[in-house]
Amino acid sequence: MTSLGLYIHIPFCRSRCDYCGFYSIGRKPTDRYIDALTKEMDLKSPDFEDRLCDTVYLGGGTPSSLSEAQLTRLMKTLSQHFRISDTAEITMEMNPCDMSESYLKNAMRAGVNRISIGVQEKHDHLLSAIGRRHTAKEAETAVKRAYRMGFHNLSLDLMYELPGQTVKDFEASLRWAVHLPVNHMSIYSLILEDGTRMAQLAERGRLARPSEEESWAMYQAMCRILPAYGFERYEISSFARKGYRSRHNQKYWELSDYLGLGPAACSRIGRTRTENTPGVRLYEKELLTGHPPQQEVETLSDTDEMEEYCFLHLRMKEGIPLDGFRKRYGEGITHWYGDAVKMLKERKLLKEEAGHLFLTYHGAALGNFVFEQFLLD
Ligand code: SF4
Repeated sequence: MTSLGLYIHIPFCRSRCDYCGFYSIGRKPTDRYIDALTKEMDLKSPDFEDRLCDTVYLGGGTPSSLSEAQLTRLMKTLSQHFRISDTAEITMEMNPCDMSESYLKNAMRAGVNRISIGVQEKHDHLLSAIGRRHTAKEAETAVKRAYRMGFHNLSLDLMYELPGQTVKDFEASLRWAVHLPVNHMSIYSLILEDGTRMAQLAERGRLARPSEEESWAMYQAMCRILPAYGFERYEISSFARKGYRSRHNQKYWELSDYLGLGPAACSRIGRTRTENTPGVRLYEKELLTGHPPQQEVETLSDTDEMEEYCFLHLRMKEGIPLDGFRKRYGEGITHWYGDAVKMLKERKLLKEEAGHLFLTYHGAALGNFVFEQFLLD
């Protein structure tokens, strides 16, 4: 039976963080939203009757803004519509402030077995500078509580290149995080997304960000400290202890099929990529009056798909499996990208070993430059 990943978007946050460019709105989810999600499952699940869902991911927004009753109902409805494997990885993103004992107990009962926690930093002044509403102590307590209650597959997010953050601050955050009972970390540098408060501050010259040298030192600290504590960098932004890679995210990088539900959710089934239109109100209105959600559908051409295959595989430690590439596209990689690969190898940004082409240490730091070389037009 072919597998499928399920993504459920919960685009609600109690307050908006100053740097966030994701689609979400600042209020609690309503039961009406769960009704609409249920309608989308009614419409779409019949096409996936022969699929076994081996990963489920509740992302946001802030999925832990769902009430306990809403979460229970959502998980029950999902399992009534889709065939979910007994060994599925079921991840839920949570805000530390929501992780009370009662909430965690309920999540576990509902089937959640992996939690991704938005921790971001260990210094409270930096957390408040980026508009996060939790403190480092709250995050630490929440992580330890979840572990104690039996969630042993925990991931946390950290950020670097924050305004006012020093190399020492980031190193201290890393050293603090590796001693928490987590086995996966996603580490992101701050990207200034258009339209966010941070981007506006930067435009007005009122955002003191780390210098290039400091950013490079932070990057090096991340690559040095995490592996020293057993966290392997298996993807550009992701580190995991052995056996704890994110199975759901690997589906994105390996071009496997996943179905996204909710406004702004993306799906990829074969070569068809679909994105539901953002907008909770419009989504609810369409679904609750018996219509499918408005969505953009794109069928990837041979070239688009090959480019995507290269970018996404290069994000991962193992890189592009050269035999796999040849089988999929009929010719070896040098047929399409001979000059680019040669140049990137000469600059020591790519390396070939044991039938795989992958980013070097420096290549991973200059990922976007490398990926651009794999655009065919
Ligand atoms: S970063 Fe997360 S919690 Fe903050 S506004 Fe964005 S989605 Fe919401």
